[in-house]
Amino acid sequence: MTRSVYFFGNGTADGTRDMKVTLGGKGANLAEMTNLGVPVPPGFTIAADQCVAYLEHGGISDALRAEVRDALARLEDVSGKRFGDPANPLLVSVRSGASVSMPGMMETILNLGLNDETVEGLSRASGNPRFAYDSYRRFLQMYADVVLGVSIHRFEQLLATKRLTTGAASDSDLSAEALRSLVKEYQQLVRAVTGADFPMDPQVQLWGAIEAVWHSWTLKKAVDYRKVNGIPHTLGTGVNIVSMVFGNMGDDSGTGVAFTRDPSTGERRFYGEFLVNAQGEDVVAGIRTPLHIDEMARLLPGAYEQLLDTQARLEQHFRDMQDIEFTVERGTLYLLQTRTGKRTTAAALRIALDMVDEGLITQREAVRRLQPNQLDQLLHRVIASTAHATPIAVGLPASPGAASGIVVFDPDAAEQRHLKGEQVILVREETTPEDFHGIVAARAVLTARGGMTSHAAVVARGMGKCAIVGCTALEISNEHRSMCIGDHVVAEGDWITLDGGTGRVFLGDLPTQPSEVMRVINGVLPQADAPTYQGFATLMGWADAHRRLKVRANADTPRDARVARNFGAEGIGLCRTEHMFFEGDRITAMREMIIARDEGGRRRALEKLLPMQRADFEGIFQAMDGFPVTIRLLDPPLHEFLPHGGEESFLLAQSLGLARQELARIVSALRETNPMLGHRGCRLGVVYPEITEMQARAIFEAAVRAFRRGIDVRPEIMVPLVSDVSELRHQRAIIEQAAEQVMGVMGERVPYLIGTMIELPRAALTADEIAHQADFFSFGTNDLTQTTFGLSRDDAGRFLPQYLEAGLLADDPFQVLDAKGVGKLVKWAVRDARDVKAHLKVGICGEHGGDPRSVTFCHEAGLDYVSCSPYRVPVARLAAAHAALAAANAPA
Ligand code: PEP
Ligand code: MG
Repeated sequence: MTRSVYFFGNGTADGTRDMKVTLGGKGANLAEMTNLGVPVPPGFTIAADQCVAYLEHGGISDALRAEVRDALARLEDVSGKRFGDPANPLLVSVRSGASVSMPGMMETILNLGLNDETVEGLSRASGNPRFAYDSYRRFLQMYADVVLGVSIHRFEQLLATKRLTTGAASDSDLSAEALRSLVKEYQQLVRAVTGADFPMDPQVQLWGAIEAVWHSWTLKKAVDYRKVNGIPHTLGTGVNIVSMVFGNMGDDSGTGVAFTRDPSTGERRFYGEFLVNAQGEDVVAGIRTPLHIDEMARLLPGAYEQLLDTQARLEQHFRDMQDIEFTVERGTLYLLQTRTGKRTTAAALRIALDMVDEGLITQREAVRRLQPNQLDQLLHRVIASTAHATPIAVGLPASPGAASGIVVFDPDAAEQRHLKGEQVILVREETTPEDFHGIVAARAVLTARGGMTSHAAVVARGMGKCAIVGCTALEISNEHRSMCIGDHVVAEGDWITLDGGTGRVFLGDLPTQPSEVMRVINGVLPQADAPTYQGFATLMGWADAHRRLKVRANADTPRDARVARNFGAEGIGLCRTEHMFFEGDRITAMREMIIARDEGGRRRALEKLLPMQRADFEGIFQAMDGFPVTIRLLDPPLHEFLPHGGEESFLLAQSLGLARQELARIVSALRETNPMLGHRGCRLGVVYPEITEMQARAIFEAAVRAFRRGIDVRPEIMVPLVSDVSELRHQRAIIEQAAEQVMGVMGERVPYLIGTMIELPRAALTADEIAHQADFFSFGTNDLTQTTFGLSRDDAGRFLPQYLEAGLLADDPFQVLDAKGVGKLVKWAVRDARDVKAHLKVGICGEHGGDPRSVTFCHEAGLDYVSCSPYRVPVARLAAAHAALAAANAPA
């Protein structure tokens, strides 16, 4: 029989940190801390697979009931208290904890075990009736809300009325008597709403709570969170049942959360917040703005010393920055949780580099600690230094980035306005997990209360979204849908701008400027003045030492090529030449070529385009000096270049000396029912060879010119949308002829390659034949996905979301390479082609080249390089390093 319940307490535990999949992160680390001798209240964890089984089949097995009974008996022994004992009751917390951290997404119940009898026992044992009844009313409302489905707001109304009728300024001013009568009112409310009495039997309470935690795995907020963070729905959550310790026993008690290093900057200093005389969730929920952890040294000196020592031990042991939760009960410290702390990317870089210096981790570990997609955050914009605006308020800089938007005060409205295409900023007193969909919809989040560890801060940081929290100057009136900040009144729909890096809030829509890293990349800030850039460059250097895949960029202009190079691109994997034809007066020449009645007319128009193309290519060769540049021949259907009626058509007809009807006739003749599968790609070059010839000449002339200027040029000419080797043979002959002609006339030879895109299933399936005519392959996985699925790239957005929602597809195949189907074609093509040409160079240039999971696939499939947008180049470099390190660590 496999076991399902794992005990911890009295210095030993059944579990360890390595059992996260079984116990969930919280349970595994509670066990680990117990084994380490860190003060943790005793308890036990129900394994996550029990959640999965329960949700699948319903019901609770006798075996599980027996295991829980035994664990509870052990807990009673260790704590010296009895569950349901009126004299000295054992009280427990029941909390969720999955193997992947999902802050605040699932339910927690505290003080379980209290009833009309045990509350008296607690009152006597603590000598503090007020505390006992406060704990009881908290338990009643939490349990009724989570397990019995009675809205928390109804309890809050009763609480508010009680404050009014007794003249109490705050909850903590309510007397024991007032709380005692409040408890009665709470119980009546439960009876009125549910038609049954609040359960007094602690066993019934316990199982109700356990089932509620299991159910909470399926709550909308939890499902949404998993979707956004790519967490599998099949994990399930562990349930942790831990004996209670109380931070609300008076001024010698308290509770808090802390990070072993600063989660915003990564600075090595103990960083946290706490509240005196408060219980559990008060700090994270942001209900009261907490005190800085340094204050604890003054208020609870003994516990603070112990906490400092413990946090250092935990960091040394886990060898990573920890996010800890603690409670002090009458001067005694207890740790309730430790986990790897979420952090900004700048902090992640600094922490990883510092820990290598401190000898805590290796360079390899540092590389693996940074998630490729996290690098995006370093490129976030900040408010322009030219904005010269004065902030109207300053809050805590919880998550970086600068964002402007209209103020919206509730999450549903945020979602709706976002769907209408508006940029919104969600402004809340504080956020709770219920607000998750609103945070997803918003560009940024601003809260009046809560600290750096509040829900809004943690969630926004995790999403790389700008957030400012604890901005106490905000006075929000939900009734008037407005807020006052000093003398300013901001109504719903007004624009504000947030600077999540500094915590400043501004009126209006302020201009933003590139981040530190972007300014270095753009050459406007010296590296010496850019510490974050330096950290980034060091870590990327380490990553490069491990990867096998080369990383190139998709870039169409010399400017993009320079940016790409500064990001570490090792060449261009795709230059889409058609983008060059839209600029300035080029489009006119292009249209002239398309409209031309015969080859002569086309050639005349192409002659005008040639020098423009040549200049573009020369600029790109220069920017990529020493690296290969893959230039793709014209790809889109010609129809895309023509105006579709209106003023533009009129002007074009005029400039070409055509009647408007004649132009309309030509445009209409070019229209296709299915243009993506129509006259495009190499089919253009087959029907109009002069287009291929002009482009090839422009490339070779540019190459020779650049070569003469001392530039190391490596052109690679790429033929798009080939489905049969004959097409490539046909185009190859034209390109080779142009090469001979240009190099003959110019008297200089430059090396070059001719290859093709593999972006149709038939090309992949006949890769061995095509390889005979190709010097390289590049997988165009945008089209290959489109044609393999028979799924239009341009229309899929209308129904793909429903597929993802319903779980018919795990990921959007245009974002994450479909390894099973499209990937199989890729693997077959690589294998068959290399049977013919063992060293054929193979890359990928679809959007997938910048997606970390797809990069891993490319590594495993034996590709030579990936190519992606310039801004994704660092992501791809790091992902390629991760793939290589993972493969090196994989068991043989
Ligand atoms: C592709 O199809 O993957 C590709 C890179 O080409 P495009 O996106 O221009 O069709
Ligand atoms: Mg394509």
